[in-house]
Amino acid sequence: MKQWREKNKGHVLAYRFANKERKQVKDKLWKKANPDKIKATAKRHREKHKEGISERRIKYYYDNRSAELKHAKEYRDNNHDKVLSGMKSWREENKERIAEYNRSYRQANKEKLQEDFKKWREANPEKSKLIKKAWRENNLERDKENGKRWRGSNPDACRANWGVRRARKVSATVEKFSPREVYERDGWICQLCKKPVDKRLKHPDPLSPSLDHIIPLALGGEHSKKNAHLAHLQCNLRAHTGGIKQTRLF
Ligand SMILES: [Zn+2]
Repeated sequence: MKQWREKNKGHVLAYRFANKERKQVKDKLWKKANPDKIKATAKRHREKHKEGISERRIKYYYDNRSAELKHAKEYRDNNHDKVLSGMKSWREENKERIAEYNRSYRQANKEKLQEDFKKWREANPEKSKLIKKAWRENNLERDKENGKRWRGSNPDACRANWGVRRARKVSATVEKFSPREVYERDGWICQLCKKPVDKRLKHPDPLSPSLDHIIPLALGGEHSKKNAHLAHLQCNLRAHTGGIKQTRLF
């Protein structure tokens, strides 16, 4: 049969050409009836020509890059929800892989990322402050530890700082009083935000009571009941970073 076909190639081709449509219909029917065979054949073919196929694919992709990109974009636009949910489930299935990727990326680009972050902080001081504050409020324990560690490794700076504050307080003190007297006087209402302060909360809870100097000691204010009032710790800190204007003067 094979030999016969070889010998009569011309006839065979002519016949095939003349019966092209019939053959196509026949093939289609056969394919429909034998999906598994088709799949198996395709698989065998792919495995046999693996490299050639991937090379051709890559080459095709690069030759038709803009068309391919456009096509992909069109697909994404037309199948927005499908693509999103597909991405979501992919991420969920590959959590480990993604985490590992991110980890190694951060490690490999540590300096660059630090540099970028520093630049961003310098360009966005307000946002950066807010982020820092939010982090502190959500990580009170860790913040405390960090502070301790910093003080531990910077004893001189720390002493100097504390010394300045203490010296200021001493020289500014015109009377002795306990903060509690001031808190009672102010009726446990924060004098900055005018909301109640919970007396059970302790420093460094952001909502704990704190003594705020109306004219800061650093600006020559005195450490007196007159120059002090009750404020939530967070309102106090915010006031000192420029959030609230301190205008109440006796
Ligand atoms: Zn307040």
